Amino acid sequence: MQQPQPQPQLPSIALEASANSIFEDFLKSGTHGAQWPNRTWCVVQVNNGRPEVFRNEGGTHAELYLLQYLRKQCNTQCLGNVRVYISYSPCSQCSEALIEFKTNVRNLDMEIIAAAPYNCYRISCPVCEKGYFDKNNYEEFSENTRMLHMLSQNGINVRAFEYDLWVTLANLLNMARPDTEQIELYTDESETYNNSYVGDFEGHNYQHTRKQADDFAATDFNNIFSANFKMPDHPDWYIEQNVNVGDLLDDMDRLNLDDNAF
Ligand SMILES: [Zn+2]
Ligand SMILES: [Zn+2]
Repeated sequence: MQQPQPQPQLPSIALEASANSIFEDFLKSGTHGAQWPNRTWCVVQVNNGRPEVFRNEGGTHAELYLLQYLRKQCNTQCLGNVRVYISYSPCSQCSEALIEFKTNVRNLDMEIIAAAPYNCYRISCPVCEKGYFDKNNYEEFSENTRMLHMLSQNGINVRAFEYDLWVTLANLLNMARPDTEQIELYTDESETYNNSYVGDFEGHNYQHTRKQADDFAATDFNNIFSANFKMPDHPDWYIEQNVNVGDLLDDMDRLNLDDNAF
């Protein structure tokens, strides 16, 4: 798949948003079922220098602005350490573009910290875990997941946020230092399961704290990056097996209960 090479201007919208609203968008990007912002933020720091902020705009994903910026940086400095904080993990095409970039830059040590695995197979999610994908989404989920796996295979480490990383992000955005409660107990406002790809679950309570969302994301990334990871390969099995939606809801309740223990 050939990645289109846009020549975008740096998005003006990133400059207009306040640090608080950017940080909040990161916090809101969490578990399957929660209501996520319809934008991706990307904060990058090269060699511990001045951070830059990008977001997706007009169909161009945030990672492409990031790569444009990094290519420019290559002219003036040796890239070395690149740390990326992003609210959605890269899609398959962006993963591919990142891998290509990594292959062409010597000694690049790039790490991506993602608030949420974007449209991929999530073992932490009872719906995904049971293979209950919408047929229309299966291919996209499959590709995104497979390319995330490839990204790690190619030496770009992707990991979930944890408390210290949230504090670092707040610092990079020049915000007042948030306290533990503000971050770990932050709970998405959406109180019900509201996700178009699993219509059957609409109305089900699927609210999580940020700490829980981070733990889930860590579980999902670990699973995706494990050496023998394989995507569940039959998109239709849930229909054939006639999965009982009541059982799935019970599982979700069980998960919610377990989560209160942290
Ligand atoms: Zn993308
Ligand atoms: Zn899911």
